[in-house]
Formats: sequence, structure tokens, C-alpha cells
Amino acid sequence: MIIIPDTVYKRFLQFALENAPPHDRSNWKECIGLVLGKIDNELMRVTDIIPIGSGTSVFVDITDYEKVFSLIPPSKFEQGEVIIGWAHTHPGLGLFFSGTDSKTQLLYQRMHPKAFGLVLDPTAISSTKSGFKIFRVDDLGRDYYAVDYQMDPIFDFQEVKREIISQLALFPALPPSPQRISNTEISWKNIRVMVRGPTLIRKNQLFKAALVLKTTLNQFIRLQYRIKITGKIQSIVPLKDYNQNQIVHETISQGTLAIIQFIAKDSGFSSIILTDVKITDYTQELQKSPDLVLNLEVQE
Ligand SMILES: [Zn+2]
Repeated sequence: MIIIPDTVYKRFLQFALENAPPHDRSNWKECIGLVLGKIDNELMRVTDIIPIGSGTSVFVDITDYEKVFSLIPPSKFEQGEVIIGWAHTHPGLGLFFSGTDSKTQLLYQRMHPKAFGLVLDPTAISSTKSGFKIFRVDDLGRDYYAVDYQMDPIFDFQEVKREIISQLALFPALPPSPQRISNTEISWKNIRVMVRGPTLIRKNQLFKAALVLKTTLNQFIRLQYRIKITGKIQSIVPLKDYNQNQIVHETISQGTLAIIQFIAKDSGFSSIILTDVKITDYTQELQKSPDLVLNLEVQE
């Protein structure tokens, strides 16, 4: 029996919905992940689905072992987790295996006879339906068939989807455009950087975000914002400053304004959000909106 914890399901659904936001159907993309798990006789317990790509060419050659293994944090293998399958999405297309999917699945089964392929279509979710199916193929990869699985625990899938969508709606994937308040003030509601682990971030890994101001202006500029961190990361330097307090920078030129250090408490999805961002140019009327960029950099 295949067992899927709710946490793993929610993470992959979030990844799927970010690439297929319900309010923007023209931007729907398929995405793909590797399924990790632990095998104990007849029991296969999924431990993680690692996002590895989205878009039109989401196929990852499972026979390219070096590439595949480089996508997985070594700690996973140390904890006894193995690749037990793959997962991809069919946004709005339904739950089936295409010819290519079946060929891909055959490669996974040659690597491990119990390997499986998970297909998720977020539009197929209801209160009692997870919106995904798990398939295997016959020895020649010609026919595919559905395999049973169990959720642990059982929950309301529609409710979880609604929750994720409400968060996505708060923070649209597109870069927000600034709002001009007056001739000297520009504001952004939210500037958000998604941090996707564990392909990017591993447990206890340090990383830093550089907040960069890009402007052609060289005038006295005041920048204020708050930082909100969601998910599995925690700021470390200096913690109290980033605890919902307003942060203020004053600068006379463009460039890096602040370096914020974080530590990943666990793999998974996280985001750094600058909220209530406001730029004030005291010296001269703003002719052109300056750009604010939050660059993420993982420290080795
Ligand atoms: Zn497919």
C-alpha cells in the first residue's frame, strides 16, 4: 500500500497551483517532481515530492542518474529515503497517462519495480477527491492502470485547495506594479520572493537575501518596509529587527540596501515578503519609478 501524508500532498498542490493559478488560465503550466519515500515490505510511505521543474519541457531523464541525484539533498538518502516514483500535473486535462508518461513510467519501473507515477489535476479536486491518481504500466509500457493509495490523515481536499488559493491570491506570481501616492511617494503592497525547497534550500542551510534598489536617480531616498516570512525559514540576523517592525533605509544612491540572513529550518516552500513598501524621494519629484529587487543567494 502507498501512503501519502497530508503535508506532502499540500506542498505539491501548492506547487501545482502556483503554476496553474485558477484566476489566470492562460498561464497554466505543467510541473513535475520526484517522489521520495521509505519502503517497508508491502508498505511504501511517501516522505517528500521534490519539485524539479515546470513549463513545456518538464521531462527529466531518470536514466541520467547524476542529474537526478544532484536534485536531491544528500540528507534524504542518509535518512533512508529512496526515489519511489515521479509526480506531474495535468492542469485542467484530467487524470490519465499520455504515451510519453507511460514511457517515462517504464523507465522508473526498470529502476525500481514498485515505482509509481502520480498525476495531479487541481481542477479534479472535491471535498472527498484528492485530484490525483497513481499509475503503473505493464512490462512493455503499453497499458497503464491505477494503483490504490491512502491519505494520512484523511482531510477535506477542497478546503485545503481553497486555503492555498487564498494565499496565492494575496500574493500574485507576477511582480507587483508600484502605486504612485504623490509626486514624492511610491508604494508597493507586497514584494514577494518564493523560496522553494529542498532543491534550493536544505535543512539548516544558510542563505541570504540582498535587497537592491535600482534607480537612475541619485537623490536622497527613504525606503521603508516590513518583512514577513512564511514557511520553513527563519531569519537570524538580526532577529528582532525583522519581527514585523518597520525597517527604514535612507540612501543617496542605488545599490544594495540590506543583506538579510536566513536559516532553513526544514525543506519545503517558504517565502520572504516585503510588505507596505514605500519609497519617498524628499529632494525631487520622482520622474521614474525605481525598482526594488530581492535577490536570493544560498551560502555554501
Ligand atoms: Zn502527463
